[in-house]
Amino acid sequence: MPTAPRSLLDKVWDAHSVRELPSGQTQLFIGLHLIHEVTSPQAFAMLRESGLRVRFPSRTFATFDHIIPTDTQARPLADSLAEEMLVHLERSCAEHGIRLFDPGSGKQGIVHVIGPELGLTQPGTTIACGDSHTSTHGAFGAVAFGIGTSQVADVLATQCLALARPKVRRIEVTGKLRAGVYAKDVILAIIRRLGVKGGVGYAYEYAGPVIDAMTIEERLTVCNMSIEGGARCGYANPDEATFDYLRGRELAPQGAAFERAVAQWRAAASDPGASYADRVELDGSALAPAVTWGIHPGQSVGVDEKLPRLADAPSSERASLAEAFEYMGLRPGEPLAGTRIDVAFIGSCTNGRISDLREAARVARGGRVAPQVKALVVPGSQAVARQAEQEGLPEIFRAAGFEWRKAGCSMCLAMNPDKLVGRQLCASSSNRNFKGRQGSPTGRTLLMSPAMVAAAALRGEVTDVRDIL
Ligand code: SF4
Repeated sequence: MPTAPRSLLDKVWDAHSVRELPSGQTQLFIGLHLIHEVTSPQAFAMLRESGLRVRFPSRTFATFDHIIPTDTQARPLADSLAEEMLVHLERSCAEHGIRLFDPGSGKQGIVHVIGPELGLTQPGTTIACGDSHTSTHGAFGAVAFGIGTSQVADVLATQCLALARPKVRRIEVTGKLRAGVYAKDVILAIIRRLGVKGGVGYAYEYAGPVIDAMTIEERLTVCNMSIEGGARCGYANPDEATFDYLRGRELAPQGAAFERAVAQWRAAASDPGASYADRVELDGSALAPAVTWGIHPGQSVGVDEKLPRLADAPSSERASLAEAFEYMGLRPGEPLAGTRIDVAFIGSCTNGRISDLREAARVARGGRVAPQVKALVVPGSQAVARQAEQEGLPEIFRAAGFEWRKAGCSMCLAMNPDKLVGRQLCASSSNRNFKGRQGSPTGRTLLMSPAMVAAAALRGEVTDVRDIL
């Protein structure tokens, strides 16, 4: 009997469902669990207190990213608390037989960068990690959830999570992106349109010609910020670009097993005619480079637009807009282009991949960072750093006055020494512009694409990268 057309989300959910729980949630088997030094120590402690072992060490992989410094990673770390967290993860991995990608492995990096590049992230599977931006892995057609510490313990102990099945919203991005407009601009435009809570209760399925034409690294950027739009997860359907990316990756299936896997992965894609709880269309051809101006990722404008005016906003939104303007020290109705910046940060799991660094280097080549700007380039992984070194990118950045750092989360959330100071304003390729996100309680963040960050670093102010390109 033919089954009704289903979305990828429904196929993956049904295939991983262990049972329906009395709460109405599903006990969902998790194919891959990624852990890092910050959300795991307490989870391992909970396991120990309960006398439990890790249920599937072979499905669990660990790395250092959040706390590890990016200037020197020599051990012991200068920060004793950070050192303690690394030691804790090392011991837990040794005790439970979990593979840890530490700096000595040559494979260390941000958890959402190394999963894809090692071939661990695969279509049609479920993934969990104790970091909000786990939605990143949806770029491969995986259903991937960011989880809290107690859920990390649940997955360690049972390889399962209790979750409610999200509805699916299909977001079709039509047309073709113009030069200087990137995946980051697409996802910022989606969040601006649908709101930071618009995705609550939903999985976002990204589709349409713009998504189809994207590389896997670009899809990773889009899926990464699904959570910033409130969605539980986000994904793109697997296609030839997905399979080409995975072919030959170290931990992907090899040889005949790879070909068998491709057949399964292909079948995981949403069926033509699948029904969706909601559909949204966005014209990609109309997009300009985006910059956030406020205190959440929904508050963005095209770099060629003026900031919103309070009088034009619905009365229910005016108080929050006014709060954002006050915190950011910006004025309604004025252009954002030309706003002077203090720091430029290129990196993070949103935009710390090799294609991001290549685009930023294309802008930085032959230029000079403005005198007042501190500019950092932080590769998302050691593999990204090696590739960049082979291509001569660090030399381009250094010659322009950028610092070239070691792999880690760095200034994305500043749990390490890379922090804003006071009210510094940072042009950042990361994913969150919340108050105090980058390490100073009064620090301010403008989210934008890596190429736009490079342009802002050179000019010392928010700049339309198309003027430089
Ligand atoms: S780069 Fe930022 S969002 Fe990504 S894993 Fe690190 S802290 Fe989380």
